[in-house]
Amino acid sequence: MLLLTAETVLTGPDGDRIPGGAVLVDGTTIVATGPRAEIDRHPGAAGAEHRDFPGATILPGLINGHAHLVWDASFAMLQHYFDADDTELLLGVVGRSQQALRAGVTTLRDLGDRRGLVLRVRDAINRGELTGPRLLGSAAPLTPPKGHCWFFGGEVDGIDAIRAQVRHNADLGADVIKVMASGGETTPDSPPTWAQQFSAEELCVVVAEATAAGLPVAAHAHGAQSIADAVAAGVSTIEHCSWLGAENSGPDLREDVAREIGARGIAVCHAYPPDWRGFAEFVGEQRFQAALDRVRWMDQHGVTFLPGTDGGLPTSVFDNYAGALSYYVEAVGWTPGRVVEMATTGAAAALGLDHVGRVAEGFDADLLVVDGDPSADIHALHRQRLVVARGEPVTPETN
Ligand SMILES: [Zn+2]
Repeated sequence: MLLLTAETVLTGPDGDRIPGGAVLVDGTTIVATGPRAEIDRHPGAAGAEHRDFPGATILPGLINGHAHLVWDASFAMLQHYFDADDTELLLGVVGRSQQALRAGVTTLRDLGDRRGLVLRVRDAINRGELTGPRLLGSAAPLTPPKGHCWFFGGEVDGIDAIRAQVRHNADLGADVIKVMASGGETTPDSPPTWAQQFSAEELCVVVAEATAAGLPVAAHAHGAQSIADAVAAGVSTIEHCSWLGAENSGPDLREDVAREIGARGIAVCHAYPPDWRGFAEFVGEQRFQAALDRVRWMDQHGVTFLPGTDGGLPTSVFDNYAGALSYYVEAVGWTPGRVVEMATTGAAAALGLDHVGRVAEGFDADLLVVDGDPSADIHALHRQRLVVARGEPVTPETN
């Protein structure tokens, strides 16, 4: 058993804290948490390995809702992806998933690889053969021929091909079905970002086939019409959700659709990189502010947010998730406590993980220990002392 004590335990939900708290871990599971004096009386506490962290906070491990482990975050990441054989990619996936873990990310959802490579790493981690975060993976996203990210291998043309690809990904062991409902920016000579890549009817088929396989659907959607179609189809999360108007006509903010996203509990993964200041400079002040305005507008309409980084894209490194979360405090203007909840308890709920994202009895022992109090100062997430992944202590190494 492992007994962790610290000045504060943040259990996950904003405002919920245990001063002078303790967490008792048995194997992969949290068996008790509460004030230290209380946990000291627990029968398991006496023989446990005790680690005390004065001035520190224990909180749930962080959850990154959107990344691509097959990409290396360099400016040549696409060329590197094309040049690598599957063995080289697989090793890269292992290395980057471990980097993420050492930066406090104990759960990471991968939304696009080829041939299910991430799922193989997930399985090795689950079998205990590798140290790593809990991985969820989509395998190859569905996209039309030569559509956005066609090179992952998920090209589909027509209803029958859509059904077959969803079943194929399910058979590979995917945790989620990813569909590129609109164009995107990573793929030369593919449909523009605002354009629909699938009809409303086709998106309904994606969701129906995924539901039959017991899987949720993550829809990549930049264009307003593709967002509306994805919501009507009943997807579980919307990636990017940029509300672009047709033919680059400027933002097309649809109040009714935004309210429905909120009412249905569909989570929006805005996906911003750790170096969001550098990204703001790169895209320019106007586009950066427009993105911020969209986030605040969705927030006003009751939308739930799932944080993610699109890790693997240029500069979107895996070892600085704390940087990505600071965006929501310093740019968007939310409180640090809200952002901690969003990246832990909230993200787990958005991903349908019911034993993850809280420091509570019976939950998986995915923990992070940081100096200071991240619910008061989000930068405390940079000052990591210990990461615990399903009960296994890992030494952090963060930017
Ligand atoms: Zn992505």
